[in-house]
Amino acid sequence: TNFRTESLNECVLKVISLIESEAASSGHEIHFHELTDNIHMMMDQDKMIQLLLNMMKNACEAMVANGSIHMRLSRDQKNATLIIADNGPGIPNDQLDMIFHPFFTTKETGTGLGLSICYKIVQDHQGTLEVESELGKGTRFILTFPLAGSLH
Ligand code: ADP
Ligand code: MG
Repeated sequence: TNFRTESLNECVLKVISLIESEAASSGHEIHFHELTDNIHMMMDQDKMIQLLLNMMKNACEAMVANGSIHMRLSRDQKNATLIIADNGPGIPNDQLDMIFHPFFTTKETGTGLGLSICYKIVQDHQGTLEVESELGKGTRFILTFPLAGSLH
């Protein structure tokens, strides 16, 4: 792994630029709510991009057409928080425990590996990953990471 102090804001912007045309082709809108100052933290930037791209792809795939994704970045003294919320179909309660397991997929051609890799990347950054979902309303993933200096 290749940990350096990087801006989480810039990371999110990179991921948005990577997914933008795919999202637009389905009519999805991506909204990024950030603070005025950049949030810096220790990260493996390639892994962080892989993590966020996986989540954004899932959101895009879950929403049939003309959906919207809100990414909200905030921080407190110790942690950065990134929320990725979509207004897709949601995840049934009895599946919520399984989505992070390798090979769990509800897609015909899915591998079911995306979220298990995401989970591993979050753990490697000593962060937390939670999901909240409501059927017919949407799904939100809540990621937290310790700020720069907390990792060694
Ligand atoms: P895959 O995308 O190959 O199916 P993932 O590990 O990325 O594998 O996701 C596992 C499953 O979690 C998906 O098949 C889907 O059922 C569910 N899921 C993940 N993200 C979302 C989302 N944003 N909205 C609804 N369901 C989701
Ligand atoms: Mg996936």
